[in-house]
Amino acid sequence: MPPDLIDSHCHFDFEAFDEDRSDIWSRCRSLGIRQLLIPGTEPRQWERARALCETTAGWYFAAGVHPWWQHKVREDEWLDPCRRALATSRCVAVGECGLDKFTDTPMAEQEKLLEQHLQLASERRLPIVLHCVKAHNELIRWLKRYPLERGGVIHAFSGSADIAETYSQMGFRLGIGGTITYERAKKTREAVSRVRLEALLLETDAPDMPLCGRQGERNSPEYLPEVARVLAELRGLSLAELAAATGENTRLLFGLEH
Ligand code: ZN
Repeated sequence: MPPDLIDSHCHFDFEAFDEDRSDIWSRCRSLGIRQLLIPGTEPRQWERARALCETTAGWYFAAGVHPWWQHKVREDEWLDPCRRALATSRCVAVGECGLDKFTDTPMAEQEKLLEQHLQLASERRLPIVLHCVKAHNELIRWLKRYPLERGGVIHAFSGSADIAETYSQMGFRLGIGGTITYERAKKTREAVSRVRLEALLLETDAPDMPLCGRQGERNSPEYLPEVARVLAELRGLSLAELAAATGENTRLLFGLEH
């Protein structure tokens, strides 16, 4: 029997999948991938994600403004549409939002937007999907200031065992993707092999973040079993055990059906 896997972060609504989305999903199904979560990027995209999720059982989405799209979104124009998106049935989280030191938007503006998302997650009692590039210290400070009932996930986690432990102790999960398939990602591989198992979710972040050996190609949710295999190996677990644990963690965090 194939494992029961969930891609907790996949931009499956992106144009990159317009040609062959349903073919990919049938391959995913036969590989044991039962559910996926489409993160939010900007207001028009929430509408697309919502419509897409209504076509297929097992697809869910989140609504939020991604730091890469922040410059396109007016501060006073996203909150109401976001509240409306969050109230729809397949919307299970706020995000993705966060802090990214590699984008041009000044940190102060990114932090202001992050604060609004944290307030929204707390107001709606929803988990939050966080994007963090080179800004763990700043992000941890914000998360301490706004403790969230349902926590959230630091998606595409990369960082040290200490940082992983800090997030885990604060009730946050870590989204584990293609990074760990690279031998050179020693610090992150060490971190994900040590942090408690309850903190771990699987993801691809497709079409971004190609796995080792597939650099330069479009990433796809159908490669999730490879991420699972590497994580199982790092944890000394069987693929079935790892799939069961991370699946349960993901359903618990986002309140997904079995
Ligand atoms: Zn993403």
